[in-house]
Amino acid sequence: MERLIQYFETIPSSHRSLILVGGITFFWLVESAVPLFQFGKADAHYRKAGHAGINLFFTLTTVAVNFVLAFILLKTSDFVVAHQIGVLQWLSLPLWAQIVVGLLLLDLIGAWSIHWLQHHVKWMWRFHLIHHTDTYVDTTTANRHHPGESVFRFIFTTLAVLIAGTPIGVVMLYQALSVLLSQFNHANIHLPRWIDRPLNWFFVTPNMHHVHHHYVLPQTNTNYGNIFPFWDRLFGTYAEMASKDLRYGVDTHLERHEHSRIGNLLNIPFQPYRPPMGSPETTTSSHADINESP
Ligand SMILES: [Zn+2]
Repeated sequence: MERLIQYFETIPSSHRSLILVGGITFFWLVESAVPLFQFGKADAHYRKAGHAGINLFFTLTTVAVNFVLAFILLKTSDFVVAHQIGVLQWLSLPLWAQIVVGLLLLDLIGAWSIHWLQHHVKWMWRFHLIHHTDTYVDTTTANRHHPGESVFRFIFTTLAVLIAGTPIGVVMLYQALSVLLSQFNHANIHLPRWIDRPLNWFFVTPNMHHVHHHYVLPQTNTNYGNIFPFWDRLFGTYAEMASKDLRYGVDTHLERHEHSRIGNLLNIPFQPYRPPMGSPETTTSSHADINESP
């Protein structure tokens, strides 16, 4: 356990890149072997390489934002340890418990809370929207984040380190797990029920996260979790849905040119807000003006 944390304390950037690329490659292979949906068969417009190209572009911008800001995370972690600030610094826990509590708090504050906020604060939703516009959710969707969203997430991860008082070894372990779990829970994998059910008590599985990518409310506002499923169960945002009923994307941006061009995706946050079907703004009005592709 100590060696694991020592490794993550000084993990080279090349190893971090390897985790990201290795994860995408691994889940891509699993998707080819046991796909949940055969997008190409269901939709003549689907191009696997084109789809992956857009998502990998946004993965690169996410990496760039995190790379440029990484020193802030490092300084924050050094600061909390040096000044004994934060939950882990106030409790004297054995190393294994420090790792468990650290990962739980980082996941709650650095992922679940900011994700929930982005669904409930309109100007933040306009940035997060581009993640939801993907109509073919797979492992490459994991980091399809607008650079603005990458900044929000970075701020909340830093805030999480400050509150949790996490040493850098735990922060880096969390970031590696966060990347891999996100790639896993977006993956277009058919996971049999006997594997999914027990696993979903401890980790967010694809079956759980795919519900979050259903194209309309109320499902879009459920299952915000990234690593652990506990927060959604605790805060009443946990939901289930049969895979056969899933339709990916977001009802306000179903037109192909709006979700399959990088230029438009980068611009979405600066376009006027469109209330989704089922939101308080639309429940009393007609749904006839919702753009739907044939
Ligand atoms: Zn979301």
